[in-house]
Amino acid sequence: NLTDKIERAFKVLKGHGQITEINVAETLKEVRRALLDADVNFKTAKEFTQSVKEKALGRNVLTSISPGQLLTKICHEELVELMGGAEAELQFQGSPGIILMSGLQGSGKTTFSGKLANFLKNKKGKKPLLVACDVYRPAAIDQLHVLGDQLGIEVFSNKEEKNPVKIAEAAIQHAKSNSFNVVIVDTAGRLAVDAEMMDEIEAIKKALNPTETLFVVDSMTGQDAVNTAKAFNDRIDFDGVVLTKLDGDTRGGAALSIKAVVDKPIKFVGTGEKMDALDVFYPQRMADRILGMGDVVSLVERAQEQFDEEQARKLQKKIQKNQFDFNDFLGQLQQIKKMGNVKDLLGMVPGMGKALKNVDIEDDAFKHIEAIIHSMTPAERSNPALLNGSRKKRIATGSGTSIQEVNKLIKQFDDTRKMMKVMGNKQEMMKMMKQMK
Ligand code: GDP
Ligand code: MG
Repeated sequence: NLTDKIERAFKVLKGHGQITEINVAETLKEVRRALLDADVNFKTAKEFTQSVKEKALGRNVLTSISPGQLLTKICHEELVELMGGAEAELQFQGSPGIILMSGLQGSGKTTFSGKLANFLKNKKGKKPLLVACDVYRPAAIDQLHVLGDQLGIEVFSNKEEKNPVKIAEAAIQHAKSNSFNVVIVDTAGRLAVDAEMMDEIEAIKKALNPTETLFVVDSMTGQDAVNTAKAFNDRIDFDGVVLTKLDGDTRGGAALSIKAVVDKPIKFVGTGEKMDALDVFYPQRMADRILGMGDVVSLVERAQEQFDEEQARKLQKKIQKNQFDFNDFLGQLQQIKKMGNVKDLLGMVPGMGKALKNVDIEDDAFKHIEAIIHSMTPAERSNPALLNGSRKKRIATGSGTSIQEVNKLIKQFDDTRKMMKVMGNKQEMMKMMKQMK
């Protein structure tokens, strides 16, 4: 799948300390191939890699200290951008708000109508009315009733009426007189785009003037999904896309190219047949999923905010000279703490997890460590050898801890320092600092 392929492409970069322009070009070619294989349309894939390449050059990827990670990060940003940047809101306010479904038969309109009604009822405190406007298949009307019953949501239908516009208009009247504040209109689809279906959905849209028109598409239909999206958008100018069946063995391609081709945001994804299998679409998360390296990317981002290269170099010098002291120790702990969940982070930072292995990584323990170091005098912090029995006692009292805890910290500090010295052979350490950056 796409994730594996992109990952394979990136492996080349991750393995190399240095990458060359040829290397970047090769990797981007791989990425493009992976995108094409995943049914991203050619134009989108080409634009994507072109844009990544330009940004990579603009940001001097080749001379940066970790080219592989920087390139990954640029790819990630570009994916997010391609999928619409921030998540897109659904418009459902109105008296009543009207949400119209469109899409081919089998795309998941009826299922999504139920999921959305459930979502608006339970998560947004709305009183939704479901409307069955599939006048061709009586079974489709029954299907919506079954869902409505299951969810405790009223379904409006009229099997005698053959004009979906009339059904929908009657439904809205019904909603107004019975204080429903959102009307979700499920419509009929065909197996392929045809003129009659387009006429019908256009007529419904004109008559209802919905607050939101959604295009529902099966993410497993690959390249066809993009063509269908374009056909619908040309005709009804929908507001957003619902990508269904993302739980299956799906090709991520649709998510990538639909936005690029029709320039409409993806608003929801369907991840199963059950009524709670609905997710708001987050471009950020989708990009993580596609790259399959969410942890690394977000770590790099957070680390970049917190770590200063210059500081890392200074620290490295101190470690080399065995001058690493409690001030540095405290500084490192604070840096790590700033970066977020300590336990997760230590696992992710190459080298750092090892260096601080003996430090208790409970957040609470951090507080104690900080308190103890704060209770040391500047002289004690920079020269831990001063710490004799009476000083330790003073520190324990001052920090509200015990002599045992103070001793434990000093032991941890010594271990860390020893380990750092071992690692402090220049190459290892620089590599670690670079990876942090
Ligand atoms: P419609 O013809 O557009 O109304 O499509 P339906 O809502 O009837 O869905 C067609 C089939 O796809 C049904 O069997 C649904 O259970 C299934 N389906 C819909 N959405 C999803 C989804 O997100 N994941 C999975 N696995 N199946 C889905
Ligand atoms: Mg249906």
